[in-house]
Amino acid sequence: MTPAQPADLSPATLVVSAGRPARAQGAPVNPPLVLSSTYVSQGVPAPGEMLYARMSTETWHPFEEALGRLEGSTHPALVFGSGMASIAAAFSLIPDGGRLVLARHAYQVTIGYARDLAQRHGIDVVLVDIDDTESVVAALPGASLLWVESPTNPMLEVADLPALVEAAHAAGALVGVDNTFATPLVQRPFEHGADIVIHSVTKYLAGHSDVVLGAALADDDGLHARLLAYRTLHGSIAGPFEVWLALRGLRTLALRVERAQSNAAELARRLAEHPAVEQVRHPSLPSDPGHERARRLMDGYGAIIGLRPRGGAAAADALVAALELWVPATSLGGVESSLERRRRFPTESVTVPEDLLRLSVGIEDVEDLWTDLDRALRAS
Ligand SMILES: *Cc1c(COP(=O)(O)O)cnc(C)c1O
Repeated sequence: MTPAQPADLSPATLVVSAGRPARAQGAPVNPPLVLSSTYVSQGVPAPGEMLYARMSTETWHPFEEALGRLEGSTHPALVFGSGMASIAAAFSLIPDGGRLVLARHAYQVTIGYARDLAQRHGIDVVLVDIDDTESVVAALPGASLLWVESPTNPMLEVADLPALVEAAHAAGALVGVDNTFATPLVQRPFEHGADIVIHSVTKYLAGHSDVVLGAALADDDGLHARLLAYRTLHGSIAGPFEVWLALRGLRTLALRVERAQSNAAELARRLAEHPAVEQVRHPSLPSDPGHERARRLMDGYGAIIGLRPRGGAAAADALVAALELWVPATSLGGVESSLERRRRFPTESVTVPEDLLRLSVGIEDVEDLWTDLDRALRAS
């Protein structure tokens, strides 16, 4: 289905070229959007035969192949109906009564789902500081799964992924990484030995705040088969149109991430010197606790900034209200810059400061973003 391609293409090329239809005179350059729930079929189906759209559709395949190649996986990615659906698939690998070691500043809904599993399936959930390697290692004996976010949402802690993978495997635990914040352009967890990678495709991969979608990847044949079986049995699938849109978004991922990251690094540098700012977190800042690890393990610093303005939560809310260009909204990774105070959600971890704003830096002109921020900081 896919044209032959050199094996060593860079990620910036892969996002453009992977998952194209085979080259033939008159063939479409882009994969078609196929909206059929069922396929012509009779008799005993051959292995891999297209049958029914809960099991597989040809509109999923180009995106799945492209993401699989970007993450350096031996298998294509598996698309799911949302990032949470892919996390549920990964957590289904934990046996009843098993132990899940989880970053305490992981995405709050991930933690909520872990708590739900603790109640219904007797899973022992241990929350850890993912940037404190020793404390994570101490929690690993008896664990079935170590769940890593790096950088974390919203605290931007950076994990020592190779060290955690080594310790988890020594303890007999699988390692799953939520790679939503970094994207495979910035961090490829399989290169560090991770077993499972998931994405909220909703964010950077689709990139335009118009799709909710997830994806899960596993290198190991057995794990991949289990995730696929989970998707088919639970029906936690994506619609073809969402996946088609996500592939369209993926084509510009390298450009978007490059621009958003350079905007974020410049804004973080300026914010760190602003008189109305209490604290800035971005791994690009040499003074940031995550800087050294990010430099060693990642191909960039991401485009999410943690900002605490002076004056507490009230000042943070006033800042959000005073901005004109930045969009007040949850979610992240779109072309537009947006922000929110995370503790406005009563479910957010109480160890996240009340006044912490999570900024998702988009691809607008950096001077326009700065003018709006600087004006609102001075006004609020
Ligand atoms: C948004 C998000 C999720 C959940 O993804 P959905 O597509 O909203 O289900 C999971 N992890 C991280 C880090 C996220 O930012």
